[in-house]
Amino acid sequence: MKIENDRVVRFHYTVSEQGQEPLETSEGREPLAILIGHGNIIPGLEKAMEGREAGEKFEVDVAAADAYGVRQEGLTQRVPKKYFKDARLVPGMQAVLPTNFGPRAVTIEKVGMSVVDVDLNHPMAGKDLHFAVEIVDVREATPEEIEHKHVHGDGGHHH
Ligand code: ZN
Repeated sequence: MKIENDRVVRFHYTVSEQGQEPLETSEGREPLAILIGHGNIIPGLEKAMEGREAGEKFEVDVAAADAYGVRQEGLTQRVPKKYFKDARLVPGMQAVLPTNFGPRAVTIEKVGMSVVDVDLNHPMAGKDLHFAVEIVDVREATPEEIEHKHVHGDGGHHH
């Protein structure tokens, strides 16, 4: 079964900044499950998957604009320290900030007594990325998954 819109793909990936060491990999974990055609992953990677099938391996370069976008200046925000579960905040580290729109990956810039300055740019914003991907399986999405715009079950949402 080929990868196309409204199908669920499970895949393993390793992502690196072009020409550098891997930043993140799904190796040793469950594969990632996504619903194609609903903005679940960055556009450059979704496009590279189209038409492929289970068992295929490929590598692709994705420019920042088709990945996590370009870095925006002035995206620093001051937030109460209590929002963070991790008590040992250090400038430069990545942390997860809960927001009205769900958890968001941020970079800690400055740590005060009760407030923290964070950079809201995605940690991979502005980076040209390289992906190594292995397609594990492809299946039709259920009507409920298409309605919710995400995958249910293995590798997806449980609710
Ligand atoms: Zn759902």
